[in-house]
Amino acid sequence: MTLGKCPYCSDGLIEIRDKEVQGKKVKLYACTNASWQTEDGEFFELTNSSTCHFKIWQNALGKYGKWLSYKEIRELLTQESIEVELISKKYATKISYTKHITLNSEYGVSVIWD
Ligand SMILES: [Zn+2]
Repeated sequence: MTLGKCPYCSDGLIEIRDKEVQGKKVKLYACTNASWQTEDGEFFELTNSSTCHFKIWQNALGKYGKWLSYKEIRELLTQESIEVELISKKYATKISYTKHITLNSEYGVSVIWD
């Protein structure tokens, strides 16, 4: 299953890969032209044969209590930004708020803080 066309290269498609990061199962949304490998299960780098660097970790916004769904990735590939609900744990009670997120070539996605 692929989620859409890669925005960073001409012939890539975004696919879903199962990865393990620090012993936890996490999905990686990556371009078919980008092969990510790891030696220590923590730091991932592109293989030499990769021609693209597109990747978004499912838990890229995990610190905001947000895991990215397939649907949201599909939307991110076709829209400038999308709206998501984030959770702040800054205070004793959890506060949820709505923010726009956008693709970020370094971090996968980033929150638009206004
Ligand atoms: Zn690509």
